[in-house]
Amino acid sequence: MILKVARLGHPVLRMKAKPVPVAKIRTPQFQTLLGDMAQTMREYDGVGIAAPQVHLSAQIALIRVDRNPRYPRAPKIPLTVLINPKVRPAGREVEKDWEGCLSVEGMRGLVPRWRSVEVEAYNGNARRVRFRARGFFARVIQHEWDHLQGKVFLDRMKDLFTLTHLTEYARYWAKHDG
Ligand code: ZN
Repeated sequence: MILKVARLGHPVLRMKAKPVPVAKIRTPQFQTLLGDMAQTMREYDGVGIAAPQVHLSAQIALIRVDRNPRYPRAPKIPLTVLINPKVRPAGREVEKDWEGCLSVEGMRGLVPRWRSVEVEAYNGNARRVRFRARGFFARVIQHEWDHLQGKVFLDRMKDLFTLTHLTEYARYWAKHDG
């Protein structure tokens, strides 16, 4: 089922999401929710989706990149489910790149992010996972993790100078995009 996406201004996007009781993860209802979130992400050409974006205050994020028209240059990332994640920088390097968000529809801006992060979470099978991610994958993880803290990418921009509508992005910015 495709879920309704919460847009900027809805209070759920500004709340700190509640942790998921681990015993719930394997229940059919929860597995259906993960399936619905994956379907919603695909429907809107997202590379990630967090539960607050579908009006649920819960620490759940999904990431997947597979030939995405919104991010044509992004590397492929298999479906990754992060439940109750902890994210911290692995190194001090920061890089800027363009981000958009299904909840901040039709806009994009340059956002500085840690180049490399260390992630601890439960996956969709309730197993504890720990891994390191870098580049675009690390960027999407930080973007989704922010959603679970009640933050959106606008909060992470150094200033709003590069904030742009998608049409203007294609016209004026994409050609300068490394
Ligand atoms: Zn987002």
